[in-house]
Amino acid sequence: MSSKQELSALLKKHKVSVTSARLAVFEALSRLGPCTFAELNHELSPSVNRASIYRTIKLFESLGVVHRLPMGWKYKLELSDLFNKHHHHISCAGCGQISVAKEDRQIERLILDITSGAGYEHLSHSLEITGLCAGCQSKGYRTA
Ligand SMILES: [Zn+2]
Ligand SMILES: [Zn+2]
Repeated sequence: MSSKQELSALLKKHKVSVTSARLAVFEALSRLGPCTFAELNHELSPSVNRASIYRTIKLFESLGVVHRLPMGWKYKLELSDLFNKHHHHISCAGCGQISVAKEDRQIERLILDITSGAGYEHLSHSLEITGLCAGCQSKGYRTA
């Protein structure tokens, strides 16, 4: 199944109709990767209006299709692990760019061990790594 078909199946399961606006938001999120609401709006304008993008994001968040990546006091939006290979992010404190961290089995194993060690069954996790990208390092950016 393509990820679009998977989304349609998930929406139907929740008795939510599959509309062209919802599919367009989903496709834009697949194309852009982690993005702000403004970037998403820019990508979809004028074919999908801001209010329906906003409502679609709310819906997608409640269904676990989209999650928020915290970035200081702001956030970016991204498709969840349901539609994305599991991964972690590194965000730049200088310019806000987000990179995907390279896959590391040891970290995944460690997180499972910590979870089961505490007597829990693991469901999901996220790691928030903040740094300075090469560009910001060369500009001598310093956090306050
Ligand atoms: Zn940067
Ligand atoms: Zn992980």
